[in-house]
Amino acid sequence: MPAQPVPTKRQPCLQAGSILNVYTEASHNNVGSCLTEALVIHAPHDLRLDPAPLLPPGPDKVQVNMAWGGICGSDLHYFAHGGVGASILHAPMVLGHEVSGTIGALGRDVTGFSVGEAVAIHPAQPCGHCPECARKQRNLCRNMQFLGSAARDPHTDGGFRRAMTVKATQLHTLPPGLTLRQACLAEPLSVALHAIARAGDVRDRSVMVQGAGPIGLLIVAGLVHHGAGRIVVTDLEDFSLQCATRLGASRCYNTRHAAVEEEFDILVEATGVPAALPAAIARTRRGGILVQVGMFPPGDIPVPIARIINRELDFRGTFRFDTEFDAALALLAERPEIADILVTRQFPLGDFAAAFALAPDRRQAAKILLSLST
Ligand SMILES: [Zn+2]
Ligand SMILES: [Zn+2]
Repeated sequence: MPAQPVPTKRQPCLQAGSILNVYTEASHNNVGSCLTEALVIHAPHDLRLDPAPLLPPGPDKVQVNMAWGGICGSDLHYFAHGGVGASILHAPMVLGHEVSGTIGALGRDVTGFSVGEAVAIHPAQPCGHCPECARKQRNLCRNMQFLGSAARDPHTDGGFRRAMTVKATQLHTLPPGLTLRQACLAEPLSVALHAIARAGDVRDRSVMVQGAGPIGLLIVAGLVHHGAGRIVVTDLEDFSLQCATRLGASRCYNTRHAAVEEEFDILVEATGVPAALPAAIARTRRGGILVQVGMFPPGDIPVPIARIINRELDFRGTFRFDTEFDAALALLAERPEIADILVTRQFPLGDFAAAFALAPDRRQAAKILLSLST
């Protein structure tokens, strides 16, 4: 059973404009941590709003008063199963990696940001010195710390909290006109833009997006933006397909009732359902590209591999994102309807139980947001 929210309220220990906003070594010793509230997953179906310490920012860090958080499929997996893919929960962890907020306090050495500024938080902290980081494939960093991820021990706490401290290098300023509420979609849109980049040049190509969950939908938005030709979307839920149509899909099929007969230059598999992979392979034209963005459950799955070989399909994985974050923010500012179409509903953080109950219901929900300041 989810525990009742604890009555702790955010402690306004740091006020914008106070002398504590820039820390000195001496003030570090004098200013103790204070308490904030965080949404902590303890075990499957055991999600609690717990008091959490809020440390003053170290020299290269920034304290952010959180504004909005998007609930992601991985958050839902931690909630439902206590893990996602190979990341298994061994200890309580703060969820959330699609987050935005305003700067509350700056560490001593931080430049280029100011207190009160609106920011989106890049959830990734690559190590900077492994072979993948050296090759500038930082999303593949073998020592990655990613907000709200149990991939490593100890786990990396996430951003569903009233306030948090992050590295200044993780902050991205919002382009003019973009709201904090829209900005929390930059993370999943970055995933979508990276998946599209993995397909190469999509201009005038025919593309099928298999699966119209939030990532599939954002891929549709990105494909439209990048000038793809015919964009066909499949899903099992009419609600999701209506969202895809509004985002600019050329044609949608509910595969409960109708089968797609065409073949496509590019196939983006965004369901992560093993049974859907043979259809994705069959719908990719000879010599075409299949980008696998959906994350399959742990373990091996059967694949009709001969159809990949003798039709010379290019089967490409895609994982998270790296430098796409600013492009995602810019696209959200340029096309505000993306957020309007994606966001189904928002809940105050204290109503997390209702938010996590609605979010997985694909018949009526695309992206669900938590308001982290109310
Ligand atoms: Zn996400
Ligand atoms: Zn690395």
